[in-house]
Amino acid sequence: MTTFQNFIGGKWQSTQSGHTFPNYNPATGELLGEFPLSDHADIDAAVVAARAAFARWRLVPAPKRGEILYRVGELMTRHKEELARTMTQEMGKVLKETRGDVQEGIDMAYYMGGEGRRLFGYTVPVELPNKTGMAMRDPVGIVACITPWNFPIAIPTWKMFPALIAGNTIVLKPAEDTPLSALRLVELLYEAGLPEGVVNIVFGPGRPTGEVLIHHPEVNVISFTGSTETGRHVAVEAAKSLKRVSLEMGGKNAVMVMDDADLDLAVEGILWSAYGTTGQRCTACSRVLVHRAVREALLEKLVPRIEALRLGNGLDEQTDVGPIINAKQLAKVHSYTEVGKAEGATLVTGGAVAQDGPLAKGYFYRPTLFSNVQPSMRIAQEEIFGPTLSVITIDSLDEAIAINNGTKYGLSSAIYTQNINNVQCATRDVTTGILYINSGTTGAEIQFPFGGTRGTGNGHREAGLAGLDVFTEWKVVYTDYSGKLQKAQIDE
Ligand code: ADP
Repeated sequence: MTTFQNFIGGKWQSTQSGHTFPNYNPATGELLGEFPLSDHADIDAAVVAARAAFARWRLVPAPKRGEILYRVGELMTRHKEELARTMTQEMGKVLKETRGDVQEGIDMAYYMGGEGRRLFGYTVPVELPNKTGMAMRDPVGIVACITPWNFPIAIPTWKMFPALIAGNTIVLKPAEDTPLSALRLVELLYEAGLPEGVVNIVFGPGRPTGEVLIHHPEVNVISFTGSTETGRHVAVEAAKSLKRVSLEMGGKNAVMVMDDADLDLAVEGILWSAYGTTGQRCTACSRVLVHRAVREALLEKLVPRIEALRLGNGLDEQTDVGPIINAKQLAKVHSYTEVGKAEGATLVTGGAVAQDGPLAKGYFYRPTLFSNVQPSMRIAQEEIFGPTLSVITIDSLDEAIAINNGTKYGLSSAIYTQNINNVQCATRDVTTGILYINSGTTGAEIQFPFGGTRGTGNGHREAGLAGLDVFTEWKVVYTDYSGKLQKAQIDE
C-alpha cells in the first residue's frame, strides 16, 4: 500500500502532523492508498510557496506559459488511458466516461494554451488629444482551487489552466474521494516544465483542510465546485476578507419532451443524461417533463432501457453504470427513494441497493424511475446526485417552462421538439446557463461559458473566454504624451 504526499514548492512532503486518510475504490472496496490529511502548517507552506512562485510566474510571457500548457495537453493525451483507469478505480464511472473526463482536460489545455497568444484586452479612443488608453488583464495572485470528486481531472483543469495562463499561482485541494487522479495531473504539469511552486497540491477533507485554505489571508481567489451548502459557506466566509469567489454548484436539470418529439432520440438523451456517471453530474437530468399526449409512449420505450442498464465495475467495458461514490452518498440516494414513495410518487423501477454477486463489495444502486411526480415534491426539487429520475406530466410548453424554471437551481435544460416555435420560446424563456435542443442535459464543450443561474452559482462562469474573468483583474493604462496637464471631464 502506498502512502502519497503533498506536492509543495516543487517537493513531495508528508503532513507536518503525520496524519493520513484512506482512498478506496467504490466498486470493490479495495484500498488504493493513504493520503496526507493536511492542516494549518501544510496549507501555510503551500500558500507561501505559491506566493514566492507568483513573483516569477507573472513575469513569464503568456505565450511561454501557453507552451507549457500545450505540452501538458500532449502528455495528457499520451497518458489518457492510464489517467482514465486511475479515475475509474478511484471514483467508479465507466471507462468511456473517464476517458471523456481526461479529454475535457486535454481540450482545456490546448484552448487555454492558445489564450497565451491572445489574452485580449482592448483599446478605445480617449476624449483628450495626445493621450491613449488601454485595458489589459493582470493576474490576481494566489488561487485556491477546491474541487469535487465527480470530474476529478476535468474540473481541476477548468480552474487551473485559465488561472495559469493569466499568470496566477495555485493551491489545489482536490476532493478527499479522488486524490490520486489530481496527483497524477499535477505530476504531468511538472513533467511539462511548470516551474516549482506554481501549482501546489494539498490533500485532505473539507475540514480541516479546505476550511483552512479558504480562510488563508494570502489567498486572493477561491474557485469552488461542489455542493450548494458548502459553496454558500465558502462564499460567506470568503466575504469577510473580500476574497473573490467563483462557485459552481448544484442542478435539478430537466428534459422537456413535447408532443411532437422524436421519442427514440429523447430516450437516448434521457438515459445518457440521467444515468451516465451514475447520475452524479451537476448537469445530470433528474426530471423529465413529458407532454401528456406522449407520456405512455415515452415510458414504454424508456423503462425497459433503464432496466437493461448493466451495473458493475467501470473498468469492465460491458458496464453501463458504475457505483455511487461512497456509503454516505449511497444512503442519501436511497433516502430519496423513501421520500418519493412517502410523497405519493409511483416507483416504476429501481429504488434499491444492488447487492448481487460482486456488487455487494461496492456501493451500487439500481437505476431508479419515479412517475406521477408533482413539481413541488422534494424528489423534483432537491438535488439527489444519484441515478434517480422523476417523470412529471405537462400539458403545454408554457407549463413545462414554468416547472423547468421552478427550482432553486438553473444549470442545464433540454427540449425535444420538431417545432421551431417551441425551440424559440424555450430559448427565450428557460432561465438556465445551458439549453440543449434535441439533446440531453450533459456534454458542455470547453470553449463556451459553463455555469448556471439561481442557486447553481454566484454569477461567474467557467471555461470559454468568460473563464478568464475569474482569474484576472482589469488594469487600465492611460498614457498622456501632450506634455501638459490635461484634465478629463473638467471644463476649462
Ligand atoms: P460533495 O457533497 O459533493 O462532496 P462538497 O461541497 O462537500 O461536495 O465538497 C466539494 C469540495 O469542497 C471538496 O473538495 C471538499 O473537501 C471541499 N469542502 C467541503 N467542506 C469544505 C469547507 N468547509 N471548506 C472548504 N472546502 C470544503
